[in-house]
Amino acid sequence: MVVGGGAAGFFAAITCAGAAPAAEVTVLERGPQFLSKVRISGGGRCNVTHACFDARELTARFPRGGRALLAPFKNFQASDTVAWFKARGVKLKTEDDGRMFPVSDSAQTIIDCLMHTAKAAGVKLRLSAGVERVAEHAKGGFELSLSNGETLTCDRLLLATGGCRAAAAGQLAVSLGHTLEAPVPSLFTFHIATPWLRSLAGISVEPVEASVPTAKLRERGALLVTHWGLSGPAILRLSAWGARALHGFNYQFPLQVNWLPHLRAEVIGAELKSRRETQPARLVVNTPVAPLPSRLWEQLVLAAGIAHDTRWATLSRSAQHQLVQQLIRTELPVTGKSLNKEEFVTCGGVRLGEVNFKTMESRICPGLHFAGELLDIDGITGGFNFQAAWTTGWLAGKAMAAK
Ligand SMILES: Cc1cc2nc3c(=O)[nH]c(=O)nc-3n(C[C@H](O)[C@H](O)[C@H](O)COP(=O)(O)OP(=O)(O)OC[C@H]3O[C@@H](n4cnc5c(N)ncnc54)[C@H](O)[C@@H]3O)c2cc1C
Repeated sequence: MVVGGGAAGFFAAITCAGAAPAAEVTVLERGPQFLSKVRISGGGRCNVTHACFDARELTARFPRGGRALLAPFKNFQASDTVAWFKARGVKLKTEDDGRMFPVSDSAQTIIDCLMHTAKAAGVKLRLSAGVERVAEHAKGGFELSLSNGETLTCDRLLLATGGCRAAAAGQLAVSLGHTLEAPVPSLFTFHIATPWLRSLAGISVEPVEASVPTAKLRERGALLVTHWGLSGPAILRLSAWGARALHGFNYQFPLQVNWLPHLRAEVIGAELKSRRETQPARLVVNTPVAPLPSRLWEQLVLAAGIAHDTRWATLSRSAQHQLVQQLIRTELPVTGKSLNKEEFVTCGGVRLGEVNFKTMESRICPGLHFAGELLDIDGITGGFNFQAAWTTGWLAGKAMAAK
């Protein structure tokens, strides 16, 4: 019996039914449709996995759960996901940043593949079948109470009920003796009210180095200015690695941005000095240092306290110093967060030490297995969260079939 008709639940059910054709495998989904997160994932395109084909390297993309995933990834990693879908007629393509999508650019292709494969393998699929309670039988096996009053029994149970955004979502696991690491969001964008920054909404800069010194966090990558603050891969990675610390700050903390991380401060200083000598008559605001967009440069110059009509010839040494500091260490006060529309996950969930990662079986309750985001595992953005769901689902399905 698989509770949860999402990515992990489907992968486990298909794997189990394939490995043990005589077994009766059922997916119980409380909602009105299966795979609803797959449908909205990756902006409707479903970022299925990431072109990172080394198990150890893959684990480095998980702020929580990476170490536990090493052995599972040695059994089923991103290249296995690619091969799995290919064998079922779905070709994946890789984008420049490593994210992998179906060539159709449609999440529906992934849904159709999983639905068709599950049905062909004889998996029973039930919608509007929310599991409210689970009881362990003294002689082994489980009794499930559904929201419609029905009672079902099974000898193997997989909980794949997804992220515990509210602790209540993990209650089935808790009722069977498990501990939940407190849920907090991961993969979010930062609210920053600074007017000059907001006036730049739509600009993206790559690469920048964004850091949160109070949490010892630092990430390099693309940065996107939004109408409410900052987003983009560098920010999303900070939010993932700092999910607990930033929650602890109530999402109010100073952010520092180095807009030219590939240049040392002395090199920038020398570049500005040479402008004073080679183009003394030009306005500072009109002569950006590459690769900064001209609108951003203008705002950084003004934020450094340099007047709009200042020419290079009249730029004082102290103003030049201020400008270098602004370029390498713009300080921006973060005042809150928004969920990232493309992908968000929950940090927290079933404590990893309570699960055997060879079989995904509970170390507390024999016959009970876990897969997917219900576990205290979360990856950075880029297809890693689905990869964790495929891998843990596959392992759980194999182990349930083997018993
Ligand atoms: C907007 C958005 C976009 C995303 N895009 C990507 C992406 O492109 N790439 C990526 O790697 N990750 C992405 N993610 C993250 C990814 O979707 C999740 O990590 C993944 O879906 C987890 O799979 P799961 O099967 O564990 O949980 P889910 O997909 O959440 O499935 C769990 C299912 O269990 C059901 N359920 C819960 N409780 C019960 C119960 N008591 N009884 C019966 N059923 C129950 C739920 O209704 C749900 O259908 C995205 C997330 C969001 C929110």
